[in-house]
Amino acid sequence: MIRYIFITGGVVSSLGKGIASAALGALLQSRGYGVRLRKLDPYLNVDPGTMSPRQHGEVFVTDDGAETDLDLGHYERFTGVSARQSDNITTGRIYSNIIERERRGDYLGATIQVIPHVTNEIKSFVLNDPGQGVDFVLCEIGGTVGDIEGLPFFEAIRQLGQELGPQRAVFIHLTLLPYIPAAGEMKTKPTQHSVKELRSIGIQPQILLCRCDRPIPENEKGKIASFCNVRPSSVIEARDVGHIYDVPIAYHTEGLDTEVLAHFGIQDAPVPDLSAWQRIAHTIRHPDGEVCIGLVGKYTDVPDAYKSVMEALGHGGLANQVKIDIRLIDSERFDDEVAPLDILEGVHGILLPGGFGERGAHGKMRAARFARERKIPCFGICYGMQLSVIEAARQLVGIKNASTSEFGPTREPVVGLMEEWTKGNEKVVRDANTDLGGTMRLGAYPARLAKGSLVAEIYGKDEVFERHRHRYEVNTKYIPALEAKGVHFSGMSPDGRLPEIFELRDHPWFVGVQFHPELRSRPFEPHPLFASFIAAAIRQSRLV
Ligand code: GLN
Repeated sequence: MIRYIFITGGVVSSLGKGIASAALGALLQSRGYGVRLRKLDPYLNVDPGTMSPRQHGEVFVTDDGAETDLDLGHYERFTGVSARQSDNITTGRIYSNIIERERRGDYLGATIQVIPHVTNEIKSFVLNDPGQGVDFVLCEIGGTVGDIEGLPFFEAIRQLGQELGPQRAVFIHLTLLPYIPAAGEMKTKPTQHSVKELRSIGIQPQILLCRCDRPIPENEKGKIASFCNVRPSSVIEARDVGHIYDVPIAYHTEGLDTEVLAHFGIQDAPVPDLSAWQRIAHTIRHPDGEVCIGLVGKYTDVPDAYKSVMEALGHGGLANQVKIDIRLIDSERFDDEVAPLDILEGVHGILLPGGFGERGAHGKMRAARFARERKIPCFGICYGMQLSVIEAARQLVGIKNASTSEFGPTREPVVGLMEEWTKGNEKVVRDANTDLGGTMRLGAYPARLAKGSLVAEIYGKDEVFERHRHRYEVNTKYIPALEAKGVHFSGMSPDGRLPEIFELRDHPWFVGVQFHPELRSRPFEPHPLFASFIAAAIRQSRLV
């Protein structure tokens, strides 16, 4: 029997609903249960693929090529369960499915309405086959209760609560208990109002997860329980912790998973094995040292844009027992050839993340050159890899006009679109740069690794599957010239047409990958490339 856990949020956004859901998933897993996590996003975009990272943080890509909300990244990192296309839905997707069917005549002339058509679509998303061995499906509803666009979602889960019954459905509401210094008190009123709002649309939450920055006094817990109509033990303190990987243990200590199981009347649940989380917490608290990584990109003012990259660097740190000091460096500040690069001095490694567009790209190329010439470990990811290859083509091979068609038509498309290599680039590039929908290589693809290469040694395999999200590719025509200058293409697509990885021969550690390894890194299984990059940064830190 599959049980459903609905997680809603109230009072304000950014309370960490994604992490709370992921942590509960991890706790249930630690008791031996199978979980699947799903995210319902009320916004109107069909998927977050076209949204600016400035608005929405990174786009998390699944193995099956879905562009999803970054919370799915938390789910994967906390539970190790790979998310799929069918784990994230938006209002935009629901409407576009419904309208497509309506246009096809599938509704046989019926009037299409929010209830039941939209709500039914949401319900079938929730109930859709979660896969083998799943005991709990956790569904997080994006946004906060009271948002207009959230209403159909709340109505749908209300109906599900009714249809499944309390033995199979539980509602958890995440709220905020602000502390007002002038009054010297923690305030429960916003929580009461938020629960009232939920109840007015027919949902009575059974468990309240209360974010706070200090312990909740017992009498306040009692008050919340009484006004919000929940058991006192179901008012769970969710106090701020030092690190997100402390959250599962903290919530367990406060009884979250115990309350969920009690709600379902499960009495024979195995005791949780949290030893892996304890080990992580210990490593985070007692590192053997610290390395500084410069993350050079153009969205550095919104760190969520680099969520998985930053997490993966942390995992690389866990693998090497060091703390990572991430220096976010805006590449636009040295786009201009004469701008100084002194901010890069002293970093032990440079990470060039993915990105789009010309702005900030020249700065990234300059950072790549700095790392190459100064022999600082450097990791280029997707755009970071493409730009490093262009930099090498310009400086090492001497192709002064080496470029990417992403900047516009070019005579030297070292990075470009495959079809332009055969058809000539002007028109192809112009069309591609105006029509941006649905033309990306998305999801997991294989790459063959060259025997004896650094990456083959790092991975310990000769074939890997990694997740992609890009439109342009390195042009194989330039490979011989680049190889002659020590740029070794050590990973290729199995048909040999797409360069996937390069490494610099005459450098302590310079690897560029066309894919996004950060999307597959997990605290318990740090991605080998990140672990190796951090190990190289540690060696570098001993030199300076
Ligand atoms: N802009 C580049 C492309 O589309 C790289 C994309 C990325 O870094 N994810 O190919």
